[in-house]
Amino acid sequence: MLSNVSFSALNSWFLCGESCKRTYFGERFPPGISAYRGRSFHDTVEVNHSQKIDSNLDLKLDYMQDYCRDQYVNSIKNNGYFLPKEDYPYKSKLLNQGLNHAVGAIKAYKEKIAPMLHPIKVELYMKSDIGLGMPISGRLDLIDSNGKIRDFKIGKKKQKNWEHKDLQPTFYSLLMYLKEKKIPDFEYNVIPPSGDVQVLPTARTFEDFKILIQHIKLFIKDISAGVFRPAQPGSWICTEKYCQYFSTCKYVGN
Ligand code: SF4
Repeated sequence: MLSNVSFSALNSWFLCGESCKRTYFGERFPPGISAYRGRSFHDTVEVNHSQKIDSNLDLKLDYMQDYCRDQYVNSIKNNGYFLPKEDYPYKSKLLNQGLNHAVGAIKAYKEKIAPMLHPIKVELYMKSDIGLGMPISGRLDLIDSNGKIRDFKIGKKKQKNWEHKDLQPTFYSLLMYLKEKKIPDFEYNVIPPSGDVQVLPTARTFEDFKILIQHIKLFIKDISAGVFRPAQPGSWICTEKYCQYFSTCKYVGN
């Protein structure tokens, strides 16, 4: 049983209850290559942000890229990874692509994002009771000197207005509001493989919080009752390519 509602568990439940159950309540399969790509990037910028609070300087590019490479290679080696059968022939190519994207994103980050950052808190863990019997919690990438929450992502270029609809800023802004009694600004920095950084500021309202809390209520109700609905048949996630549980899931005929 979960002790806190995290954004990642909630998001996983939105996509597929069965997958959420397996990941957060049971057998946890290794994630796909894209998760390692994101983690190695995140771990690296975290190291830079943590030391920058005192130094006010960024680490050297070579150091960060080496660190990112080591994180990627070692975590895949130690934990394994999920690869859909159709991608077996391209294993080496996909692993290299993931590594190159992560290391390339560090260069874009160092040149285009890091110089603007003035971190005050890094990987800030927050937990709050919202009166639903289970607190909400999250780890915020960075709080800057203006009190803004900043979140860093690598992956596909985001579509127009994605940042205003995405649930993560709502979740983290709510956590921050419950502590500071002020709704913070939020900014995504997204680095696609092209290296063209997307700077996506957004903000949330009390109405957004109310809607999110309705979803969290239902999440807690479902998981407390052991109800884990499968993904919609035919949806993009319910495929061998995107779901690591596909080969053993009863909802797709196993
Ligand atoms: S195969 Fe489909 S229903 Fe089963 S866990 Fe994956 S996404 Fe969910």
